[in-house]
Amino acid sequence: MHVLVVEDDARLSRLLKRLLTQDRHVVETALTAEDGLEIATSGTELDAVILDVGLPDRSGFDVARLLRRNGSQVPILMLTARDAVSDRVEGLDAGADDYLVKPFAYEELLARLRALARRPPTRKAVALRSGPFELDEATRRVTVGGKPVDLSQREFSILECLLRRPGQVLSRDQLLDYAWPYGVALTPNTVEAYIHLLREKVGNSAAVHIETVRGVGYRLREG
Ligand code: CA
Repeated sequence: MHVLVVEDDARLSRLLKRLLTQDRHVVETALTAEDGLEIATSGTELDAVILDVGLPDRSGFDVARLLRRNGSQVPILMLTARDAVSDRVEGLDAGADDYLVKPFAYEELLARLRALARRPPTRKAVALRSGPFELDEATRRVTVGGKPVDLSQREFSILECLLRRPGQVLSRDQLLDYAWPYGVALTPNTVEAYIHLLREKVGNSAAVHIETVRGVGYRLREG
């Protein structure tokens, strides 16, 4: 298995890497949430992510949420420091598949990993539709009136965000948070530029279009 370990405790990280490697897994490690997200979203095919909750830059819950929001279905095993019910619930809500309370026995970690690998993906990616727009989250394919449209990752995310909340006005900041998950410093003008590109690509069909709501944001509007 190709496993990513996101853990800021350098000693534990090294230990996990050594043990997992001995067990014939291919292991990548990240000491921060940001590095972990970068590896997980860089196109590397991962079979599992071992994710610590307490990370220096943002929580493991956030990392899990961002991965799921980006459409990743990689099995996530969360490492929590306390056996608090609220932590477990938050972890599972955030998209983790399983959790392990520190300190844990290494054999148990391996057993959980094997179980995760056997489990079929639980989150079904959905096809979002509105009027002529169809967006398939699993294949990341977008069609307008049945014709495929080639979108960049950001354009795809923006359209996805709008399609998830048809008719609802979304602010530029909301779209920024959704489509640029790393807290990259961008201005709302960036969103405007992408909306412009997106409109050119998907066209402004009479049935459904991306409407500018002055001073507020954008929405997908029918009719
Ligand atoms: Ca930690």
